Amino acid sequence: MKLFYDLHIHSCLSPCGDEDNTPNNIVHMAIIKGLNVIALSDHNTGKNCPAAMAVGKKSGLVVLPAMELTTSEDIHILCLFERYEDLQKLEAHIQKTRLTIKNKPEIFGRQRILDENDEPVGEEENLLIVSSGVSVEEAASLVKGFGGIPVPAHIDKQANGIIGVLGAFDHGLGFEMVESASDTGVGLPRITNSDAHYLWDISEAEHYIEAETCSAHGVFAALKRMCREGK
Ligand SMILES: [Zn+2]
Ligand SMILES: [Zn+2]
Repeated sequence: MKLFYDLHIHSCLSPCGDEDNTPNNIVHMAIIKGLNVIALSDHNTGKNCPAAMAVGKKSGLVVLPAMELTTSEDIHILCLFERYEDLQKLEAHIQKTRLTIKNKPEIFGRQRILDENDEPVGEEENLLIVSSGVSVEEAASLVKGFGGIPVPAHIDKQANGIIGVLGAFDHGLGFEMVESASDTGVGLPRITNSDAHYLWDISEAEHYIEAETCSAHGVFAALKRMCREGK
C-alpha cells in the first residue's frame, strides 16, 4: 500500500522548533495534511517521541521515533527507528559525547518535553543543537548498530548537509539512503521530507513509500528494503 510520509519533523523540544509544535498539534496537522506516517526528529534527542507515538496510536497515524544527529563535523544525520528503546540507546550514547553547554532559552528558544496531553514534563537544560562527538565516519555503523537507519539529511542544502560540508558524497561512509528534495546524483534511495520547524511546513500528501502494512514495522521494513535494493 501507498503510505504518504514526512519523516523529518521537529517538535518544541528542538530550540529552533516552534512552541506550537507539540505532539498533539504535529500529529493532528499531519492527519489534516493526509499523511499516514511521520517521524519526530529533534536535534540530538528523542525525548518527545513517546508522547507523539502515543498520540499517533490514538489518532491512527504511524509515528516513527527518530532524531537528527549532529556529527562532530556539524553534518546532520536523520536517524530513523522502529522502536523507541533503540533510539534511547543511541541518545544515551550521544549524550556522553555531546558538548555540555547550557541552553539560553531567550536566545536559542525553549527545549520543552511534553506528555501525550501536551502537558510539560520537563525541559532539556543543555543546548541540543551543538555537535556530538560522533564523527561522520562512525555515524552510519553506530546508528545501524542500535537498529536504526542513518540518512544524511537535506544533502541538497549547503548548511549541515553532508555534500556541503565534505565537498562530495563518500559512498565508503556506509549510508544507504539520503534525504533530499531533488536528485543530487548520489545513486542511493532518496526520501523527501519537510524538516518542519513550524506546523504549516509539514508536508502535504505528496511523497509515499510502498509498504506491506500501515504500521511502524511495515514502514521500517519498507525503508530497509529500499536500502537493501538500492532504490
Ligand atoms: Zn538539519
Ligand atoms: Zn531538521
